[in-house]
Amino acid sequence: MRICIVGTGYVGLVSGACFADWGHNVTCVDANREKIAILNNGGLPIYEPGLAEITTINMKRKRLSFSTDLKSSVRNADAVFIAVGTPSRPGDGHADLSCVYAVAQEIAPALQDGVVIVVKSTVPVGTCDEVERLISGSRSHVNFRVASNPEFLRAGAAVGDFRRPDRVIIGGERSACDRVADIYRPFLADGTPFVYTARRSAELIKYASNAFLATKIAYINEIADLCERIGADVQDVAKGMGLDSRIGPQFLNAGPGFGGSCFPKDTLALIKMAEDVETPMRIVESVFTTNERRKRAMARKIVSALGSPLLGKTIALLGLTFKANTDDMREAPSISLIRGLCDMGAHIRAHDPVAVDQTMLPMEITYCPSPYEAAEDADVLVVITEWEQFRTLDLWRLKRAMRTPIVLDLRAVYSAEMMTLAGFRYYRLGAAHLVPSTPALSRPIPPIRRLRVNGSGSHGNGASRKPKPQRQISATTNERAPA
Ligand code: NAD
Repeated sequence: MRICIVGTGYVGLVSGACFADWGHNVTCVDANREKIAILNNGGLPIYEPGLAEITTINMKRKRLSFSTDLKSSVRNADAVFIAVGTPSRPGDGHADLSCVYAVAQEIAPALQDGVVIVVKSTVPVGTCDEVERLISGSRSHVNFRVASNPEFLRAGAAVGDFRRPDRVIIGGERSACDRVADIYRPFLADGTPFVYTARRSAELIKYASNAFLATKIAYINEIADLCERIGADVQDVAKGMGLDSRIGPQFLNAGPGFGGSCFPKDTLALIKMAEDVETPMRIVESVFTTNERRKRAMARKIVSALGSPLLGKTIALLGLTFKANTDDMREAPSISLIRGLCDMGAHIRAHDPVAVDQTMLPMEITYCPSPYEAAEDADVLVVITEWEQFRTLDLWRLKRAMRTPIVLDLRAVYSAEMMTLAGFRYYRLGAAHLVPSTPALSRPIPPIRRLRVNGSGSHGNGASRKPKPQRQISATTNERAPA
């Protein structure tokens, strides 16, 4: 099939390269000339494991090309995918759909009869309807259909995710769905579930999924804070929870808060979408605000680990991207952390293994080419991103480079035993030892009160138990919960 992909970013480029690898004829278009020039010269504008190989080989096979000429690329296409960015709109947090609608208007005059427009960008419910309306407005005589096909790949594992998705979601009328399903034909053979639904449901599936995953992260982060206060270890708690097949182990890694180009803006867009129809989403609202607060709170954890104010201290940061295996810095927790540390008068030395967009970082930081250089004369070293190479660092060399051997591990990259053996004072998020130096913990830890659990608890369905008349008491706040 002849496919045009508009927007050659993390989603557009990976989708285009993978479609071409299946034998489709793909043109990836982008308005960014520099990006297209890099690709046409055999380079990659983003870091994504495994992408270089499939891009190069399919360019050689003449199945994958790159262009800035939208109209001529669309003219002969059987399917046009829209994969442009949908960031938060500055000021109000709604998804900014200006790029999606600009593409719809730009492609309209060049569309051929029978074409399917596939919206792959993450867009609020009703966007496909609007795309259809915009195109019909300027090309009422052309026969086209609009389908929704949200993407679930993760930056850093994008190629693998695209090739082995948990499901393919396609929203739209039957003939449009069939055309899109035909593009994904290799999955039909390997048993990947296809969900055919209405466009509005497909659009919402993406937001509902992302908000759910964000909730899981925010939840385990809250449990991590609790662990620090009451003498439990979040690593063990998460393991114990994750082995429950109803919960699962994924997205239960406590950390400095979720970031990246999707979860923060998608949770916010869902909140705004719901507000517009007067159906507030209180859980998602809380997830969003607690996550923002958490990112800012990480600076205080460093004060706790160090046991003294940060003024004039040197802090080594390992990892800057929002997670490992990506160069994506959008909404990375490191950004708000660095701002907080600079405000407290600390000097920052940082290292990240892949090229990062340093324009997003405050100018004051010293960017170092290796972890050991970042650690030079540092009063504390903080692991922000779980890059694999940090696990195998020469710990003795790292320690020798530092002024004081204190490590705060926000990603549970190291084991406490190993770090102690290497002579570090080692702190990990969600472990009780992080708290003793915080001012709040100069008070003794209150005794842990037993919770009264109502009859319909988590074991079985509670049908055989007699409901207890007492009210449930919160052990931490003493607030009365509803009976
Ligand atoms: P991105 O910013 O990496 O890429 C978007 C590209 O679109 C940019 O290169 C930009 O120059 C281009 N563009 C913008 N307007 C254009 C126009 N009028 N004509 C041609 N090109 C134009 O974005 P991304 O991370 O690939 O995300 C794209 C969409 O996919 C978003 O809606 C995002 O929420 C969603 N998504 C992203 C991920 C992810 O991990 N990055 C995963 C799933 C879904």
